[in-house]
Amino acid sequence: MARSHNFSAGPTAVPLDVLTQAHEEFFDFAGSGMSVMEISHRSQVFMAVASEAERDLRDILGVPPAYKVLFLQGGASLQFAQVPMNLIGDKGTADYLHTGLWSGKAIEAARRYCDVRVVASAHASGFDHVPHASHWRLNADAAYLHYTENETVHGVQFIDTPASDAPLVCDACSSLLSKPIDIARHGLVYAAAQKNMGVAGLTVVIVDPALLERSHAFTPDILNYARISEAQSMLNTPATFPWYLTGLTLKWIKHSGGLQALHQRNQAKARMLYRAIDGSDGFYRNSVQAPYRSINNVPFRLAEVALEKTFLRRAEQAGLNGLKGHASVGGLRASLYNAVSVPAVEALCDFMNAFAREHG
Ligand SMILES: *Cc1c(COP(=O)(O)O)cnc(C)c1O
Repeated sequence: MARSHNFSAGPTAVPLDVLTQAHEEFFDFAGSGMSVMEISHRSQVFMAVASEAERDLRDILGVPPAYKVLFLQGGASLQFAQVPMNLIGDKGTADYLHTGLWSGKAIEAARRYCDVRVVASAHASGFDHVPHASHWRLNADAAYLHYTENETVHGVQFIDTPASDAPLVCDACSSLLSKPIDIARHGLVYAAAQKNMGVAGLTVVIVDPALLERSHAFTPDILNYARISEAQSMLNTPATFPWYLTGLTLKWIKHSGGLQALHQRNQAKARMLYRAIDGSDGFYRNSVQAPYRSINNVPFRLAEVALEKTFLRRAEQAGLNGLKGHASVGGLRASLYNAVSVPAVEALCDFMNAFAREHG
């Protein structure tokens, strides 16, 4: 079996151990004589899968016991609308930090539901940093403050959890489970599974119960966090297979030593790649200011832009996949999520060094 190295931004690599286990029990799950995809979400067999995934997620992230954990569909993009629908209450206004493409999308979606105030933006400098907190114009009457912990396209990441009097809402789509996060400091954290947590089709929302009864009158039950929570995320048929696969991925995270161990490994991977870029005498460049460089997504350009096509083709021939940058910014990008191994990043750096020697 030839598995190529996968640096895609999402969907992306799933740990081989997870794929292997899913493969082994594909036709007959837990002695049921059926695939996990073929059984009722209300069956005891699936309910056990669902609750074990929740327990493991709570364990790994240190979720405060009172917080609700929801397993939803619609991707992180649906949360761009679902968050204001549910949390805006009678305040009518919310604060947003604009640090890249994804927070921009969250801002645009929220405008339909509330008065959005962009309290700081890095747009003018091409999203190469997170504006310092001393420059944020926070509003005392904001229903919440929304930030995007890791900007998947621009490769910009927060250094610390923002301080805020308003409940803090975090789009952690591309960084949840790649490092520790203090959930208790947040009102709500959301992430789709296809980055660090499994496959497309599942979104996890972790929410402080104090925020649950503020939804807009027009919010349908199916999008209402409180109603979903009461129904244990089974108000309608949940995404059973992605939920199961996230469960396997959470076990893998536990066996891998948890978030501290994964964070160290992820930092080492990122250091290795940034060193290859910075040490290339300008052949490659990443223009994000050093303190804000992402450990999850590393966008880069070649000084000679016309060579990027050749780079991608040759990389694929070498078994290095998913290195094309997001369409909105072009260039190249390597995503270094949990399932990307140290040897995979070594192979990428070796390839980059050799390519630069050949074409530099
Ligand atoms: C991928 C991503 C999204 C969008 O996720 P979908 O599941 O495709 O809707 C939103 N925010 C961030 C930070 C992302 O990385």
